[in-house]
Amino acid sequence: MSADPITSVVERNLCTGCGGCAGAFPNAIRMLEDPVHGRRPVVARNDEGRAASKAAMAICSGANSDWSQLQIRDQTEADWGPILSTWEGWAADPEIRLKGSSGGAVTALATFALHFGQVDGVAHVAARQDDPRLNEAVISRDRVGLMRGSGSRYAQASPAELVGEITRGADQVAFIGKPCDVASVRRATGQDNELAAKIPLTIAIFCAGAPNLKATDRLLDRLEVPKGGDLIDLRYRGNGWPGLMQATWRDKSGVEHLSKGIPYAEGWGTILQGERRWRCNICADHTGAFADISVGDPWHAPPQGDQDAGRSLIVARTAKGRAVVEAAIRAGVLIAEPRSRDVIEDAQPNLKKTHGAAWGRIAAMRVVGLQTPHLKGQRLWSLWLRLSTKQKLQSVLGTWKRILRNRLWRNVTIARIGP
Ligand SMILES: Cc1cc2nc3c(=O)[nH]c(=O)nc-3n(C[C@H](O)[C@H](O)[C@H](O)COP(=O)(O)OP(=O)(O)OC[C@H]3O[C@@H](n4cnc5c(N)ncnc54)[C@H](O)[C@@H]3O)c2cc1C
Ligand code: SF4
Ligand code: SF4
Repeated sequence: MSADPITSVVERNLCTGCGGCAGAFPNAIRMLEDPVHGRRPVVARNDEGRAASKAAMAICSGANSDWSQLQIRDQTEADWGPILSTWEGWAADPEIRLKGSSGGAVTALATFALHFGQVDGVAHVAARQDDPRLNEAVISRDRVGLMRGSGSRYAQASPAELVGEITRGADQVAFIGKPCDVASVRRATGQDNELAAKIPLTIAIFCAGAPNLKATDRLLDRLEVPKGGDLIDLRYRGNGWPGLMQATWRDKSGVEHLSKGIPYAEGWGTILQGERRWRCNICADHTGAFADISVGDPWHAPPQGDQDAGRSLIVARTAKGRAVVEAAIRAGVLIAEPRSRDVIEDAQPNLKKTHGAAWGRIAAMRVVGLQTPHLKGQRLWSLWLRLSTKQKLQSVLGTWKRILRNRLWRNVTIARIGP
């Protein structure tokens, strides 16, 4: 018997782990943490599971994306998604700026939306208290809760799981997530006006890919956290820009230790990025085109050390997003200066190449009969054409090499719930 559609998305390496399907159908679909494949949904093997899986495909951004619903006005927007305005700035609150991944702009904007009555809560992810290697999706209603999420977690997380809780509740909630998380939420709100009214604001963080639990364990080894140590905290970013990767752990006699810290570039470059999931290699939106606001690192003006004062690149994608950023600046919650709309291109040269390479990788997959995401209305081909000949070849030949090396034709299997 062929797999239900959501299981097929997982099996064929198209799942991003956003959690949207499980959030919408919690009785039939559950997210599991697989150390290698990441957080992935498992569907109950019964009629309810099959029906839920079929319905959940409508919100799955892993399998489908439709840029034709976005207002694309020029080449910059064709490359990066809608850009109404851009700023470079940081949180006025020094603790939010310090703990934030770049300049704390996301947490500052979320704090503003909460404290100025625009929303009742903020949906985001935070490290799990019982095991800080893992993430949980939470709705925060105060600054303490929001601070739990500050700083990027370069690990699997499924914030879109919260769509179910938001749907069932009466509150208005701002949503923070990676571009794929926000894309699924946008698909969900696009079909449900009541849900759309309950999620009046979405904020995406730029994202080059989410590593798996295996990578986090390797990071802990590099930080020299002993295997038997009781992990209390693990930071991938923050405490300055870009920040050190560092852990806090407790030994058997209850004494707390701060591990050695390694620079962000070392941790990302030599440990984490190699364990991004294949789906991230064919991701065609690393900067959150479907969000109201997107935030990333302004790498065009990089920090001089490992723990500089943080700065964020803030992009308003919608009129609503622009109004929120402007109001947060007026209220003194965010300190930011306008930048030209195309600064994103200087700030994220790698992500631009990656968007272009995605077309070559997807084409290479299709040629050998592998299933790929259905991407509508996005001009990836024109980005691919602007790659150098070497990069074009790499995108295709490198994909075939990876298909062979990682045997990508084999189904991904995750432990299942249900009979
Ligand atoms: C896996 C990953 C890859 C990234 N790649 C890039 C990149 O290539 N280029 C770039 O410019 N920026 C990248 N970022 C984003 C960057 O690290 C910052 O998140 C961004 O600049 C916002 O910083 P901030 O200080 O404003 O956010 P903060 O104020 O520190 O807030 C961060 C917010 O992000 C949420 N969050 C953290 N981790 C996750 C996660 N795994 N999934 C969903 N939500 C999460 C938190 O809940 C919090 O609300 C990446 C982030 C992650 C998690
Ligand atoms: S991409 Fe999201 S909605 Fe689609 S199968 Fe994966 S977790 Fe579910
Ligand atoms: S690279 Fe794309 S698919 Fe992968 S986690 Fe980031 S936004 Fe999602």
